[in-house]
Amino acid sequence: MRVFGLLSQTYNANILHSYQRERVRELMAHARTHVPFYADMLGDAVTLDQAPILDRTHLFDYASQFVSAVLPRGQAARGLRYTAGTTGQPVRVVETNLTHDWQLALQLRDLEWSGLDPTRHLAEIVWCEGQGHSSNRWDPDLDELCATGPSSLLPITLDPLEQLEWLQRIQPNYLRTYPTNLELLVEVMGEAPPLSLTHLKSTVEPLSAQLRARAARHFHVFDTYASAELGLIASDCHLGRLHVHSESVVVEILNNRGLPCPVGEVGRVVITALHNYATPLIRYALGDRAAWGSPCRCGLPHPVIDRVAGRDLPFFTHPDGSRWSPASLVSAVHQIGSALQWQLQENSPGWVTLRVVSGEWTSQHTRRFEEAVARFYNVAAPRVELEVVRRLPLHAGRLRQVIACR
Ligand SMILES: [Zn+2]
Repeated sequence: MRVFGLLSQTYNANILHSYQRERVRELMAHARTHVPFYADMLGDAVTLDQAPILDRTHLFDYASQFVSAVLPRGQAARGLRYTAGTTGQPVRVVETNLTHDWQLALQLRDLEWSGLDPTRHLAEIVWCEGQGHSSNRWDPDLDELCATGPSSLLPITLDPLEQLEWLQRIQPNYLRTYPTNLELLVEVMGEAPPLSLTHLKSTVEPLSAQLRARAARHFHVFDTYASAELGLIASDCHLGRLHVHSESVVVEILNNRGLPCPVGEVGRVVITALHNYATPLIRYALGDRAAWGSPCRCGLPHPVIDRVAGRDLPFFTHPDGSRWSPASLVSAVHQIGSALQWQLQENSPGWVTLRVVSGEWTSQHTRRFEEAVARFYNVAAPRVELEVVRRLPLHAGRLRQVIACR
């Protein structure tokens, strides 16, 4: 197929850029003509940097206006993808035969880059309905393209000790899960991980350098950057650097003034999906932050990104109604430093709950956090609740680290 042929070619950076420019031009022309939301929003824009930036709120508020009235010849709708994301606002994206083929092709590339053998046993601990299951193959769609081995699925909501018992029983070769879960799992594994397990695939959330280093003591660790709306965005090469799938997406990293960040500067991630003509996503801000990385020694022409833990923070509300970034509270939790994992929730203006997973949290830590909350809200006696828990509550399998009351 054409898609697989494209990915099998060896591009250089210049060819990738001109390929992206051509796809962007076609996509913007299509969106302006056939998608009501873009008919007004794109105006006279002809290049990407002239287009406005969208976020999840646009996709939620104008859901029906994002769907194309017609599709180019040869393309057909295949189904819908729903995602609640970390903000809790559900959004809907139409999948087509073209986006489906691209995702399959990228999955194959992802396996190739990380050196995984699809005939081995894959275990997944992710968000799923029901109790999980086992199968004699991986994804049935992938099975049409290459021989795949057995796979086993377990809900991420289970206790990490139960997860470990399951892994020891089924003896998989590879494990795919989210960093939030991996952190707890690595903790309970200690120095005795399941012997069969050789490779970890991290997905959905950013994998921190610290967690990668801890996991790498026992496993080969590979990260992927993906979202439900966009599919695979970037994958680790064999050297463990995250390369953008430039044939499928244009990734921009922008500073506060909306200008491109140089290598090393953290900014807002904005993505254009090049092949979705049914629900075009042009300059879509996922809410992630990242920086461009230095060129990778592996030789791939695909740019390297360093993801940064922590999405754009929702604003907290002061008792006088003004809204402020809770960055100083997040910083205070980091500085206290005793929480393996944490979640900060504003229940109402001036009232917060801090949940921590920690065996070492003391009243002194709580007092330091209360002082930070008092400074943040500028009140003498803030209302602070502290919950030491074994596991943080997940929303659709993912951790919402900072939750605002509105
Ligand atoms: Zn590389």
